[in-house]
Amino acid sequence: MFDTNKKYGILGMARSGIAAAYKIKELGGTAFLSEQQWKDKIPSSLQLMQDFSCEFGGHTNKLLECDCLIVSPGIPLTIPILTRAQAKGIELISEIEFGYQIKAPDSKIIAVTGSNGKSTTASLIHFILEQMGYKSILAGNIGDAFCSYPIHKPGIEFIVLEISSFQLDLVSSFKPDVAVLLNITPDHLNRYDSFEDYAASKARIFKYQDENDSAVLFLDSPVVARWTTNIQARKLLFSLQELQPKAYACLSGKFIHFGLSTIVSIYDLGIRGPHNYANAMAAMLAVHALVPDSEAIGNAVKGFKPLTHRLEYVGSVRGVSFYNDSKATNTDSVRSALMSFERPIRIMMGGSDKGEDFSTLTDVLQAKAQKVYITGNTQDQMRQAWLGKVPLDCIDDFETCLRTAFEEALAGDVIVLSPACASFDHFQNFEHRGEFFKQIVASIMAENEKK
Ligand code: ADP
Repeated sequence: MFDTNKKYGILGMARSGIAAAYKIKELGGTAFLSEQQWKDKIPSSLQLMQDFSCEFGGHTNKLLECDCLIVSPGIPLTIPILTRAQAKGIELISEIEFGYQIKAPDSKIIAVTGSNGKSTTASLIHFILEQMGYKSILAGNIGDAFCSYPIHKPGIEFIVLEISSFQLDLVSSFKPDVAVLLNITPDHLNRYDSFEDYAASKARIFKYQDENDSAVLFLDSPVVARWTTNIQARKLLFSLQELQPKAYACLSGKFIHFGLSTIVSIYDLGIRGPHNYANAMAAMLAVHALVPDSEAIGNAVKGFKPLTHRLEYVGSVRGVSFYNDSKATNTDSVRSALMSFERPIRIMMGGSDKGEDFSTLTDVLQAKAQKVYITGNTQDQMRQAWLGKVPLDCIDDFETCLRTAFEEALAGDVIVLSPACASFDHFQNFEHRGEFFKQIVASIMAENEKK
């Protein structure tokens, strides 16, 4: 229930913070907005200053006059203003928690987390629900912010949320009807003290669930099992193992077995690679937890198309195929990319460092990669990890790096951009990097058409 007397402070004038501020205003409450950057860097600053009381260029003690702070997922909880707020007993929450507190009771929540596959799986769940004729919204880390929808009004049947560990760090009552945990593998180690801390954050998705709720879990992951042993929710398991009896969804050859009688061919899915079969199973199970109609779910999943920047097929020149996997910003997502092809792969890697150990990829690179083309800020670490173990080349310039891979490729090869790193060394974000990759491929295609 929304309390109009509560004074909210919003840290971070990005998508989710702005959406929360407008929701508070719509509900008749007061929000004070605070941003680290100067106002010329915030595209909507003039409008925000008209609508709210705001501060730019740093977070001041004015925030300490608020009763509750809604903190953007990009802001570390260790910054001084937040330690002072905590010491003063001020409530800190994420926009996801705030949205949950004010949402209409009739909407069911399906929340998806994990190190990789969140966007794909959340989009799949939303797609299945819409195909089945339900009113569903897709929000959180993907699409628009949770609070930008009319979630406080009745009528939305399902809310599908993609949730990062940063948003889970600040939940205090968030209780999804279905919580999906896809996997837990190293990521964001530059922000957490340890892998244990990061995993604990992910597991918070189950913290407020009870036995009436469901948890969709990857049976094959010992880390997932360890962090979900004592959860209250009913467990629904999926597995990539052959006919695994403990799992409601599992593989058998080229088929997904779902429940007792539903079977979906992997060739009917628009997404490739074992990791995506796992995502499809998780999505089907998440819907099944609330709408137990296996056959309708099996039919609905078939028309889904891959999202851009996730193993996205870009085109083919002289028999060489190009794939854009710019969203692969950690080592496990690169492993899944490498496992998705039968053909030899020339893989383009590197970018800005997130604190990962690249040597964990040595075995799969040896098995699957013909050559690694390294670019971006992590060149030294990557060279050190793989020199003498895997054929490699380090090339500073992104375009030259891609063109070199193409010049060296033979018909039948696959060139994949799958960086294992964030993009902030040379790009605004992973989309910018992926679009640049696609532009270069388009030029290569045009040049080769003329020949
Ligand atoms: P997220 O939202 O968690 O970043 P995405 O669906 O956007 O996940 O995919 C991010 C990257 O991870 C892509 O490179 C994709 O190919 C890879 N990926 C997707 N699903 C999985 C999975 N279940 N396990 C490992 N890697 C995955």
